Amino acid sequence: MKFSDYNISPLIKEQLAIMGFNKPTDIQFKAIKHILDGEDVMAVAQTGTGKTAAFAIPVIDKLESRNRKGYKGIRCLVMVPTRELAKQISGVFNEIGKRTRIKTFGLFGGVEQEQQIRTLDNGLDVLVTTPGRMFDLISQGHLDISKLEFLVLDEADLMLDLGFMKDIQDVMKHIPNRRQTLFFTATISKKIKSLAYTVVREAIRIQISPKNPVAKNIDHAVAFVDMDDKRFFLENILKEYEEKQFIVFARTKVRVERIVAAMQRVGVKSEALHGGIEQKERFVILDRFRSGENKVLITTDVASRGIDIPTMDYVINYDLPDDAENYVHRCGRTGRGNKKGQALSFCSEAEKPLLEAIEAYTGEEIEQYEISKDDYMDILNDSDDGSYDWKKLLDKSNIEDGTEDEW
Ligand code: ADP
Ligand code: MG
Repeated sequence: MKFSDYNISPLIKEQLAIMGFNKPTDIQFKAIKHILDGEDVMAVAQTGTGKTAAFAIPVIDKLESRNRKGYKGIRCLVMVPTRELAKQISGVFNEIGKRTRIKTFGLFGGVEQEQQIRTLDNGLDVLVTTPGRMFDLISQGHLDISKLEFLVLDEADLMLDLGFMKDIQDVMKHIPNRRQTLFFTATISKKIKSLAYTVVREAIRIQISPKNPVAKNIDHAVAFVDMDDKRFFLENILKEYEEKQFIVFARTKVRVERIVAAMQRVGVKSEALHGGIEQKERFVILDRFRSGENKVLITTDVASRGIDIPTMDYVINYDLPDDAENYVHRCGRTGRGNKKGQALSFCSEAEKPLLEAIEAYTGEEIEQYEISKDDYMDILNDSDDGSYDWKKLLDKSNIEDGTEDEW
């Protein structure tokens, strides 16, 4: 079935064609018809499978066809866990709904609220938001969600991880019982199920390849590298594949900054993104990466969820994640839609238990990237960061394996 065969507004179909969306993905195929039928949906599908459009297309269609003249409040509330996602997902709504009357706005904290209030006062249909700023604006009387028709919880697993449970429950108090609720998550656990059942009613459950949470079109490899040598391997790869786009995950903000500095010393341009950087700047950094102006983004798990940059070629786990589930999310930043992607992890001796945990979680052994002793030494010696011994000394003071675990 193609989108052109769907019983949705031609204004949406034309736009999907322009976006290059011809056929629905699995999750879209399974979810859209039920949402159009007015049912609650609880959907579990791997990262990168097109969940956003799976709810955006039918929601926009229904809002467009059920015009509520004179009504100024919010008609659809999409709750997301991060500001970056609020921006990205509101962008998808605006793109898909470009030719319709439906207006969408991404609301989040960390930026001034005056402009946001003006946008809200002008009236809009869909609000994509993180909880904090939304509650501020409700209590100040600028935001009315009391008559909404749709509630969407996206990336519900991360919302739980970040402790948004109470916020979700508080939202329930502000919205009508008669509504359609759509619940989307990449992973499922007991806790997520129980959250889902507090918000959805007799929901249609859709689950796509739950047994193997890793997206199929990503090649995975692991290289065993000493903690102190990781940056020489990173330098080597980034120089070899200069024209490719990379996202590099490290464990902490401090390590991110140090890797960026280390790359700068050897003439490789990269940018840091983490929770210690001011929100406005974070958007600018992400935009530069999205546009390809910057090809190497070094980041913490703050960027491991939901961020969709279709051109991304490689994910590098400079450090393995402490939480095996995050491995799946990080790798899911590549291989988006139908594209192929590659993920390479650096694993030091101390990280071997983390690797085992990841393999246990995904149920698959990660292929080992063999590096001969000679090649290993060559990589160290080829570095533009001076001699090996000198590097070893520098490493001791420079890349201390800190304990800070904040994003
Ligand atoms: P998820 O939320 O499941 O991680 P996204 O909604 O961010 O995934 O979509 C992943 C990528 O797939 C995006 O780049 C999106 O534009 C693309 N995509 C989604 N649906 C389709 C489709 N039907 N045809 C082509 N590309 C699609
Ligand atoms: Mg998503």
